[in-house]
Amino acid sequence: MEIRIGNGYDVHALAEGLPMWLGGVRIPSETGFVAHSDGDVAIHALCDALLGALALGDIGHLFPDTSDKWKGIDSKILLGKVVALLQEKGWRVGNVDVTIALQRPRLAPHIIPMRETLAPILGVDVDAVSVKATTTERLGFVGRCEGCEVWATVLVVRQ
Ligand code: MG
Repeated sequence: MEIRIGNGYDVHALAEGLPMWLGGVRIPSETGFVAHSDGDVAIHALCDALLGALALGDIGHLFPDTSDKWKGIDSKILLGKVVALLQEKGWRVGNVDVTIALQRPRLAPHIIPMRETLAPILGVDVDAVSVKATTTERLGFVGRCEGCEVWATVLVVRQ
C-alpha cells in the first residue's frame, strides 16, 4: 500500500458582523472571518494538507484570491475540487485530523456536524474525520479574539 502524508495551516482574521463558517458548518457567532471566499479557515487548511500530500501546491495557487470566480465561494466546493484532483491523480483520502484554535465561541457543539459535513466530501466515513478545537488560554492573537488558526494533517492512499 502506497501512502502519503500532508499538512496544512491557515489563519483568518475575525471581524464583527461577518458570518462564521468552520468545517463547512455555519457557527452562530457575533464575529466571522475576513476573506475572499466564505473564510472557512478549517477547510482551507484541509485543502492545503491534501494538496501538500501530493506536492500539488496550495489553495492560493489553485484558487487565487485575485479572481472574482472564487469571491464569496462556499469552501466546501473548493474542497470537493481538491478531492476530485486527488482522485484524478489516482489517490483517495485515508483519514484527516484537524485542530482549530479559537477563543470563542465554544466549538464543542459543532464538532460532530463538521465531521458529518466533511466526511462525504472527502469520500470517507465519519470516523476517519477528526476535528478538534482548543482555545489558547487567552494568549496571542487567537486568545485576543483577533483570529482563528487551524492545522490539518491528512493521509492519502494510492487507489
Ligand atoms: Mg484561507
